Amino acid sequence: MDCDVAVLGGGPGGYTAAIRAAQLGAKTVCIEKEPELGGTCLRIGCIPTKAWVQTAFAIKEAEHTFAKLGVQVGSPELDFATANEWKAGVVKQMVNGVASLFKANGVEWVKGTGRFKDANTIAVEGGEDVTFKNAIVATGSFPLRPPIEGLDSARCVDSEGLLGQTEVPRRLVILGGGIIGCEFASIFNRFGSEVTIIEMLPKLIPAEDDDAAKELAKQFGRRGITLHLEKQCTKVEETGDGLRAHFGDGETVDADLMLVAVGRGPLVEGLGLEEIGVELDRRKGIAADEHRRTTVQHIYAVGDCAGYWQLAHTAFREGEVAAENAMGHDAVVDNRGVPRPIYTDPEIAGVGLTEAEAREQYGDDVATGMFPWVANARAVMQNETVGWVKSIHETRYGELLGIVMVGPHVTDLIEAGVVALDAEATVETVADGMAAHPTLSEAVKEAGLVALGRAIHLPPKRRAAATT
Ligand SMILES: Cc1cc2nc3c(=O)[nH]c(=O)nc-3n(C[C@H](O)[C@H](O)[C@H](O)COP(=O)(O)OP(=O)(O)OC[C@H]3O[C@@H](n4cnc5c(N)ncnc54)[C@H](O)[C@@H]3O)c2cc1C
Repeated sequence: MDCDVAVLGGGPGGYTAAIRAAQLGAKTVCIEKEPELGGTCLRIGCIPTKAWVQTAFAIKEAEHTFAKLGVQVGSPELDFATANEWKAGVVKQMVNGVASLFKANGVEWVKGTGRFKDANTIAVEGGEDVTFKNAIVATGSFPLRPPIEGLDSARCVDSEGLLGQTEVPRRLVILGGGIIGCEFASIFNRFGSEVTIIEMLPKLIPAEDDDAAKELAKQFGRRGITLHLEKQCTKVEETGDGLRAHFGDGETVDADLMLVAVGRGPLVEGLGLEEIGVELDRRKGIAADEHRRTTVQHIYAVGDCAGYWQLAHTAFREGEVAAENAMGHDAVVDNRGVPRPIYTDPEIAGVGLTEAEAREQYGDDVATGMFPWVANARAVMQNETVGWVKSIHETRYGELLGIVMVGPHVTDLIEAGVVALDAEATVETVADGMAAHPTLSEAVKEAGLVALGRAIHLPPKRRAAATT
């Protein structure tokens, strides 16, 4: 089979690239080995986890908010089978959506495992070879397993294994306090599990802003999630009806299930890439420039197999850019405004620099302002007043450097910060614009006002404490 653009992998990076290339007039083929399109994100990542997040949030609302607002429904009870049906239904709708988009755009989906045979041919296991003018590699990533004794137990699962559970574990121990570990901790705590996190670094969500990580640890503590930070897991043993995780200096915790969430590695092996001259690093993935071009000019790489971010939306954008370049355009990926959503409760979202990164790059020429949700009317009426919005700018020109948020719906609200950063806005642009009232989005403007020392909706004492 001959085509203009062959895409290897049908996840967010691959399916976006395929659709964009087809829009631009390419005869496009997408090779995907799973029986469904959508990749990690749609099948076993973003979408099913956030369907569970929605169930967890509903439990929380029923438990803590409905009665306060005058809605009596009694105490909530999790029907896990129905929650799983809901999750499966959402996934099905989304993956079918990608298949319809392929049809509508004329992208041919070749089912099977692909491997480069030469620089213009992908061999598909059990099928016909695909010959191409340009190729886009979008093979994604796989969950890492650290070499810890006993971790091969069937009770130690990765995120896919946890998503496949049909019963809520009474005791869940999570190895790794990164984004995936914390999201599942937040979900299973609401589902009624006793949750323990073991993390070897001194903070949760290590790459995120320090204040956000501290707030999350505080809220997790209040919710009864046990944290063991700066502790290494050394061994896992079966106890008959469960498992015992050994960590730190002789400490142990018993559990029914362990989630191993210590990171994901790029899926680059066995694809025949090195043989055709595509440079790669087994830890960092395929080397690609801002055009998403690899060391072989007509072969591009996008998403988790070639990425630092390991996010669906970076894969989407990289897919668009690679397809456009494959079709003769000159597009680049701009990484300034990459939103960093975390779907814990409270939610967390950041864009641009963290405060520590800003101070490292701009020294004393940095100002920040924090606006707490407790001073926002919409948050108060939603009974969601945990957290704040932090605005970070440099003081010479007032350029906005970053926004970090912890609290209600911040994974949606962060888009305001993305647009501002992409537009190279100043803090005044954000602070002097109007936000609809009463909305959660007012807190973004208010944080800008706090950073400028002009807060209206905070008393002078809070105002001074909030600005640094
Ligand atoms: C539990 C979990 C939750 C997540 N939540 C979020 C979130 O909320 N937001 C977010 O932005 N990101 C989230 N992510 C990350 C997100 O899923 C990934 O960043 C995203 O899926 C990367 O897209 P991709 O196209 O690069 O790779 P993938 O989605 O992994 O897709 C790669 C595809 O390539 C196929 N493939 C691989 N090798 C071959 C081959 N040789 N032949 C044919 N096909 C092949 C695979 O089967 C797969 O379908 C989450 C990840 C996990 C695990």
